[in-house]
Amino acid sequence: MPSLSTLSPEQRSDLRVTLRDEYEALKARGLKLDMTRGKPASDQLDLAAEMLALPGNRDTTAEDGTDARNYGNLQGLPETRALFAPVLGASPDQIVIANNSSLALMHDVLVYALLKGVPGGEKPWGKQEPITILCPVPGYDRHFVLCEGFGIRMIPIPMTGEGPDMDAVETAVADPSVKGIWCVPQYSNPSGETYSGETVRRLASLTTAAPDFRILWDNAYAVHHLTDERPALPNILEACAEAGHADRPIVFASTSKVTLAGAGLAMLASSLANVKWYLAQAGRRSIGPDKLNQLRHVRFLRDAAGIDAHMARHRALIAPKFAAVEEAFAARLDGWDVARWSRPLGGYFVTLDVTDGTAGQVVRLAGEAGIALTPAGATHPYGRDPHDRTLRIAPTFPSLDAVRKAAEAVALCTLLAAVEKADG
Ligand code: PLP
Repeated sequence: MPSLSTLSPEQRSDLRVTLRDEYEALKARGLKLDMTRGKPASDQLDLAAEMLALPGNRDTTAEDGTDARNYGNLQGLPETRALFAPVLGASPDQIVIANNSSLALMHDVLVYALLKGVPGGEKPWGKQEPITILCPVPGYDRHFVLCEGFGIRMIPIPMTGEGPDMDAVETAVADPSVKGIWCVPQYSNPSGETYSGETVRRLASLTTAAPDFRILWDNAYAVHHLTDERPALPNILEACAEAGHADRPIVFASTSKVTLAGAGLAMLASSLANVKWYLAQAGRRSIGPDKLNQLRHVRFLRDAAGIDAHMARHRALIAPKFAAVEEAFAARLDGWDVARWSRPLGGYFVTLDVTDGTAGQVVRLAGEAGIALTPAGATHPYGRDPHDRTLRIAPTFPSLDAVRKAAEAVALCTLLAAVEKADG
């Protein structure tokens, strides 16, 4: 198949007409498909149906003898912290189990840092304005929205396939206003890449001008594998401790995409000093988390093998959806020099890089044909993708048939937008 750049003007114009016809036919089908958010589908949520009957009547005594129905246990039940210790790569005393959203934990950590400062800092971040957080791109839009909402400046750092460009990070942290970096280290949202050992080592040993620099390690996809491969992501807590920066990382995770996305457990792991700091603030906010949900999770998932087995059931449901996206993109776009896309080994997203300057147009074309995509630019701070190139595809929520149809449509829109751009 020829590449777009080698077509003669006549060939390109013919192709444009053919694709337009196809696109009009697509529109006439009146599809209504939504590929916007990385949500589990109902059949995935059904996998945790039995959990809703737990912990069961009169089964509310935790291992430490406390009654899970009552106030208290701000740090979370010991057995729940033990269950997730291998996921977080931390000992139970370094772990806090909270309520249902890790994003809420990230929000609170930022608020506490802004209002109170963090261990090792001279004053609250909010008293040192403007402060800056490094944002690997493409990245998770809600991280950026948090920063924007609190007036925190963002510096985009390109992802390389092995995590953020560490040369750029090392240069940026020479500025004392740079207080942190967002990281989704495994099956990153949305590129799907996992940080290499070298990236983690360099993050751990960064020389930062700010004494209170934090790595916000959002390991949202720690157990969300799509294949038999297991990434060798080094333990950031250990790496930082070995480099003499034990207080640098704060690890976040949740069971939103393990059990229930609205009623899972969120968790945080860090140094003992950071955990103490966090609990001191959180203790004013609440008298304790929902520990019945914690017991429910322990009774349902049981141990690391139980988590693995449960995640294998998710994989069986969603891996075919990722395969359908790959097939549809390859069928339409392979051989044309108009797009590149990720083939993730885990996580919830596919990144589609379209021809520069056409991402917004692809979203518009898809929208007019009834396929809702995440807005172009959402993968970048302030919603600004300087190349207008990167799209995030979220294949988990729609049915397999809908995913296939939507991916075929997106591929058509991608090629059409590229041809129309080339044709002027
Ligand atoms: N972090 C990342 C990287 C995500 O992709 C998501 C959801 O898509 C979240 C956090 C949200 O997590 P939670 O449901 O625990 O708030």
